[in-house]
Amino acid sequence: SPETISAMLERIEQDNVKFLRLQFTDLLGLPKNVAIPVKQAEKALTGGIGFDGSSIEGFVRIEESDMVLKPDLSTYTLLPWRPRENRVARFICDVCKPDGHSFEGDPRYVLQRAMEDAAKDGYVFNTGPELEFFLFKVLDGRPTTQFQDGGGYFDLAPTDLAEDLRREAVLALTEMGFEIEASHHEVAESQHEIDFKYSDALHTADNVITFKFAVKTMALMRGLHASFMAKPIYGINGSGMHTNCSLAKDGANAFYDPDAPLQLSKTCMHFIGGLLRHAKAITRVANPTINSYKRLVPGYEAPCYISWSASNRSTLIRVPAPRGNSTRVEFRSPDPTCNPYLAFAAMLTAGMEGVREEIEPPVGAGNNIYHMTSVERDRAGIETLPGDLYEAHQALIADDLICRALGPHVVEALTNATNAEWDAYRTAVHPWELDRYLATY
Ligand code: ADP
Ligand code: MG
Ligand code: MG
Ligand code: MG
Ligand code: MG
Repeated sequence: SPETISAMLERIEQDNVKFLRLQFTDLLGLPKNVAIPVKQAEKALTGGIGFDGSSIEGFVRIEESDMVLKPDLSTYTLLPWRPRENRVARFICDVCKPDGHSFEGDPRYVLQRAMEDAAKDGYVFNTGPELEFFLFKVLDGRPTTQFQDGGGYFDLAPTDLAEDLRREAVLALTEMGFEIEASHHEVAESQHEIDFKYSDALHTADNVITFKFAVKTMALMRGLHASFMAKPIYGINGSGMHTNCSLAKDGANAFYDPDAPLQLSKTCMHFIGGLLRHAKAITRVANPTINSYKRLVPGYEAPCYISWSASNRSTLIRVPAPRGNSTRVEFRSPDPTCNPYLAFAAMLTAGMEGVREEIEPPVGAGNNIYHMTSVERDRAGIETLPGDLYEAHQALIADDLICRALGPHVVEALTNATNAEWDAYRTAVHPWELDRYLATY
């Protein structure tokens, strides 16, 4: 409304902002932005700013390329690492067509649609992701895979050399409105995790994008590369983005029922049922790179079997111990290369089908399923996640519900992306092959 816009313009002036970044996300989940001088603010906030969508991955063809960025006023924040004078602020934008309608290829819109659908039954989807990343040395301006430190889980200095960087990142993110819950050295050398408080899935997806580029920026300022790649190094843990999920109804956690078995409500159990039913298709958007599948292998705390458990950490879905308002299910397959808007939309849609169709999950996996033989797993009906991007994409195409949630535009763009990526990978000759065959044959 005009009042909110004029209040926003006033705030921009009070903050001494001279540049505005209008930010959005492409299909791959990479942030894009255009900077405008503050003089254009009123125009941008009232009518939006036009741009050429044909140059953006997964957006549109040349002949229909006029797009408009409409800032979401609630996403206003200063960029703390930019100069303290003549400041820079950013808005996350919705992408619209020239006729003012939402653009079907905007990942943010995909998630908004899924959330509106859940809202019909009175539900708000809350997500709390745990993003892991590596800090690597940079040589001659190029990131390497050389560790910055040799620390391990919860280590302190001097083994942990990143405490200053984590501190700076936490301070910057806090200034940007994040509520940081914890930060720590992760299991692998030079691997870290910073946790922020859960929120509704749209806000959280915005936060994931902001988080990654803030951490990358802070690392760069210290001459380091922060990598969110799923499995940068063979033989050690990859980086995950465990996603803690819950539904709220009328302000209360709908997964909590003090009188139910495990104190988990029917809604919670059915949500798990839906997630498990569509787990294979969800994988395509939760694990969208060729490399993602190098993480989903046994032995490194990442899931590969489709199962759930209230106790052990090897399953795809774990129910963490806290109850009451913290009752949640932890979906452990996503990795930080995912486009969080698409991944959350797929998860929510799957979970909501479970709730609506009252899908009972199979019995929880009790003992560690990694210690079962494949015969025992077969007998228990435990299936595996797709083994590579191609297989995951086939699972997506076969899943009407998840395809409908993403919409035909996004599914087509993902198909093109998969084909191109898979062909490039399939035809390349990898170092492993040379090591294996060159001397022998
Ligand atoms: P872990 O024990 O798996 O390491 P963390 O403590 O690192 O888990 O992260 C837990 C995440 O779950 C945090 O982001 C937190 O905000 C989030 N969370 C807590 N309660 C809920 C809830 N009700 N719904 C969704 N996420 C939640
Ligand atoms: Mg954690
Ligand atoms: Mg924890
Ligand atoms: Mg972790
Ligand atoms: Mg976790």
